Amino acid sequence: MNDFVMPGEKLGFIEEIEGGSNTFDDGDTIRASSAGIAEVDKKTKIVQVRNGRQLSIPKKGDIVIGTVAMMLPSMIAVAIHYLNGKPNSSGVECICQNPDRKRIIARMNDVVALKIETHLNGAIHATIDEPELGVLFTKCNVCAGNVVPMRDRIKCPNCGFMEDRKISTNYEKADFIKLRE
Ligand SMILES: [Zn+2]
Repeated sequence: MNDFVMPGEKLGFIEEIEGGSNTFDDGDTIRASSAGIAEVDKKTKIVQVRNGRQLSIPKKGDIVIGTVAMMLPSMIAVAIHYLNGKPNSSGVECICQNPDRKRIIARMNDVVALKIETHLNGAIHATIDEPELGVLFTKCNVCAGNVVPMRDRIKCPNCGFMEDRKISTNYEKADFIKLRE
């Protein structure tokens, strides 16, 4: 096999083949993570994509930082701007489930840190459930003032507004506040 493939294209099943560079698996299928030429090493049974334009699709365990692009009671979608600390312009989004629909983990445009867990049905799933993960920066939903992080919520010293958040232990520490400006 020496085929030109596009990101997301199937390269084989994980029972049959192992993924090399520029590939990822979605649980049962090895897929291309960048465009390029797919090559299979018949001895080692490893498939890789060569000369691919790097799209930098995040893999399991990667830490991503981005802004909340969509918010539903059951989940948030995050547009990724940093992958493992490096700027990422692939335009890829990941989603994070909210197990407790009564609580707000993050709102639109919040800057959040997430850890990638799996690729499932074409979507990249991430978790927010670790101390350093969560909201890195947000503003008051009422007066747009800067807020103070509490343990599991934020409070606006200006207007007194309080709201749930999954706060990162790195809140406001990072340079990522500029993502919000
Ligand atoms: Zn306020």
